[in-house]
Amino acid sequence: AKKQGKNRFYWFEHNMEDELRFRNEIEAGIRRGILNNEFVPFYEQQVDLETGELVGFEMLARWDSPEMGLIGPDIFIPIAEDIGVIAELSENLIGRAFEDAREWDPKLTLSVNISPVQMRDPWFAQKLLKLLVKHRFPANRLDIEITETCLHENIGMVRSMITSLRNQGVRISLDDFGTGYSSLSQLRSLPFDQLKIDRSFISELRKADHSDKLVDAIVSMGDGLSMPVIAEGIEDEAVLKALGRWGNMKGQGYHYGRPEPADKVIKRLAAAGRL
Ligand code: C2E
Ligand code: CA
Ligand code: CA
Ligand code: CA
Repeated sequence: AKKQGKNRFYWFEHNMEDELRFRNEIEAGIRRGILNNEFVPFYEQQVDLETGELVGFEMLARWDSPEMGLIGPDIFIPIAEDIGVIAELSENLIGRAFEDAREWDPKLTLSVNISPVQMRDPWFAQKLLKLLVKHRFPANRLDIEITETCLHENIGMVRSMITSLRNQGVRISLDDFGTGYSSLSQLRSLPFDQLKIDRSFISELRKADHSDKLVDAIVSMGDGLSMPVIAEGIEDEAVLKALGRWGNMKGQGYHYGRPEPADKVIKRLAAAGRL
């Protein structure tokens, strides 16, 4: 029994070592990847659900790693936040996205996701406005998506940041709405331009009776706050149909297309006469 215990201890230790080594490799890979421009913007279509018209794109980060292939943001964003490189990573990506989106029909908007870590920087708004100038991208085509996590922190600072960005024409969306813990009074005091209903609520609509009480509650909350809602994660026609009963809204999801790289977007827009 003693020997077995020893072996088990050894095994455990060995695994921790492996894990640590893996983590170190990923961290080094991320730092290297930033220098080598391995992080690339992908884009997901956002449409007017009533007319089906394309209204803009959400930029979603991908890591095109030479060793590991294409890696999703759920893997590398939390690590980039941890090791303090999220701002640099995000600013690079947003700059690239501005350059890409400048080629599109100027009616199309660009949405970008902002980490709560970036929102803690008192200079965030200034940095973003500087990037807009540097890449000559119009502020009124930009929409930033922040999550409720940001609101647990310094709410006064978040409010003034949002206000100064909005004064320049940038729109602010509250992402993953319904999954956090923000209170109604908190929301009323923050000038969001749009609420994004989290996809976990949207997928509920696949049920045959199409009577999701949660979506109902979220949409009427948006109504009450005079904040339009956008639905994410629309995967099929049935969900799209079910959303119809809440009147005109925007949406996005695999039903309209998977996130795709800039060159695919250009081809899509060229075919639609929207360059
Ligand atoms: P999110 O902002 O909620 O983005 C939506 C996620 O759902 C994306 O995953 C998208 O590809 C996926 N999705 C879209 N339509 C559908 C659908 O119909 N069905 C299903 N099952 N999924 C759908 P992705 O690209 O893996 O991004 C995951 C998260 O990573 C994002 O969630 C966002 O929070 C974060 N993220 C992405 N890019 C960035 C970035 O540049 N900066 C920061 N801070 N976070 C980012
Ligand atoms: Ca988002
Ligand atoms: Ca979301
Ligand atoms: Ca999400």
